[in-house]
Amino acid sequence: SANKRVAVVTGANKGIGFAIVRGLCKQFDGDVILTARNEENGKQAIESLNKEGLKPIFHQMNLNDVTSIDRIKDYLQSNYGGLDVLVNNAGIAFKMAATEPFAVQAEITMATNFWGTLNVCNRLFSLLRPHARVVNVSSMATKYAAEKCSKDLLQQFSSPDLSMNKVEQLMTDFVNAAKSGTAKDKGWPEYSYGVTKIGVTLMTFVQQKELNKDESRSDIVVNACCPGYVSTDMSSFKGTKTIDEGADTPLYLALLPPNTTSPKGNYCSDRKISTF
Ligand code: NDP
Repeated sequence: SANKRVAVVTGANKGIGFAIVRGLCKQFDGDVILTARNEENGKQAIESLNKEGLKPIFHQMNLNDVTSIDRIKDYLQSNYGGLDVLVNNAGIAFKMAATEPFAVQAEITMATNFWGTLNVCNRLFSLLRPHARVVNVSSMATKYAAEKCSKDLLQQFSSPDLSMNKVEQLMTDFVNAAKSGTAKDKGWPEYSYGVTKIGVTLMTFVQQKELNKDESRSDIVVNACCPGYVSTDMSSFKGTKTIDEGADTPLYLALLPPNTTSPKGNYCSDRKISTF
């Protein structure tokens, strides 16, 4: 029915996203959409959850392909008439041993982690119903990267007037600086993944601020989080947490009860609000 509740998780064919879908299937009252950029991998993930008696629904979505985001938007609109939970989990990181130059890593990582996540939000936020919960999976890398940023950049990050235009400008400046070999001069660390996650975290703060100003929207809560150091492809299976442990904070934030006032527009780790 058009009023059935629905949750969407990006990058859910494996890793933490897969475990977030598993948790939502068990705890969320509504349909759970497992999305993946690769259809075959997504369908395999569905089969494996079916074997556990869980019934997520597959829909393809690639953060870097806006037509694929528009397709899932249409699908949600016509089948559910809205969206109740959005978990922006998909992300990429180059391995330490990767040989691509810094400028290439900066552009590619930014395209998925920051611009891709923003694309999804910009296209799907209009579907969010009252009491919707959005979780942007960021990282403790936010903190590590911020510690290496100039005082001037840190001031810009923490400005009470921070806008989405400003966050977009900062992320564009970083990639341009990486390309022109001026990252250090401009106060940025040579740590692309960390800077993209600064972008995801700042995006979250601004999204909540904007939603709070919009009186037509009630009780929509957006939070960023770090899942912890999790054993997945991304960490070359060196992480100390299992994927289900990594899914714990994202699930907690996705399932915050109606009229939650805190955490709201925060960055959380181990279910607690953390600063960066
Ligand atoms: P994995 O590499 O195991 O999973 C990443 C998922 O994102 C995969 O499903 C991948 O799809 C998907 N993905 C990548 N690019 C796109 C895209 N353009 N469109 C759609 N899906 C995409 O990593 P994790 O599970 O470890 O990471 C999940 C999130 O957690 C990420 O945002 C990561 O930055 C964050 N994180 C992870 C930590 C860890 O220790 N593992 C620590 C801190 C944060 P595909 O299989 O097709 O590549």
